Amino acid sequence: MSLEQQYTEILASLGEDIFREGLVDTPKRAAKAMQYLCRGYQQTLEEVVNGALFSSDNSEMVMVKNIELYSLCEHHILPFIGKAHVAYLPNGKVLGLSKVARIVDMYARRLQIQENLTRQIAEAVEQVTGALGVGVVIEAQHMCMMMRGVEKQNSTMVTSVMLGHFRSNAATRSEFLSLIN
Ligand SMILES: [Zn+2]
Repeated sequence: MSLEQQYTEILASLGEDIFREGLVDTPKRAAKAMQYLCRGYQQTLEEVVNGALFSSDNSEMVMVKNIELYSLCEHHILPFIGKAHVAYLPNGKVLGLSKVARIVDMYARRLQIQENLTRQIAEAVEQVTGALGVGVVIEAQHMCMMMRGVEKQNSTMVTSVMLGHFRSNAATRSEFLSLIN
C-alpha cells in the first residue's frame, strides 16, 4: 500500500468522511509532506558535504549558531522545533559554512529523539572534519508536550554533546557555551 493510500486509511479510521471536498487530495498532500519531512533518509553525509572541506591553519573555534531545526519525534511523529548550535576546533580542515546547517538538516529530517539527533550531528562533524573537538547544543520545543500529554507550552528541552577537547577542556567548553548566549 502506498503512503497516500495509508493516509486515506488513517483519515477513515479517525472517523472522517474521506470523500468530502476538503479531504479529496489530502492523502496525496500528506504523503508528499511526510516524504519531505523525512527526506533525510535519502541523504548521506558524503553527498551533503560534497567535498566542501578546505585546508586551514585556523586553530580557533568555528561556530555556527541558531541553526533552525525542524524534526519529528519518533515516539509520536509530532514536530519538535528549535535551534542547533554547532562548534568545532579545526585540525587543519574547515567545513564550508552552509554544510554545518545541511548536516543538521539531514539528521533532523528523520524520525528522531533530540538526544540522538544531537549526538549524530556531533559525530558527523567530527568524522568529516577530523576536528580536535566538537560541541553541539540543541534547544527545542516538542509538540508532543505542548499539544498533548502534559500540555506544557513553555518548556524547552536542551541537549548537548561534547566530544574531544570540548569534553576534556573546561575552558573550551565554557567558551562555546558563552558564545551561545
Ligand atoms: Zn514525542
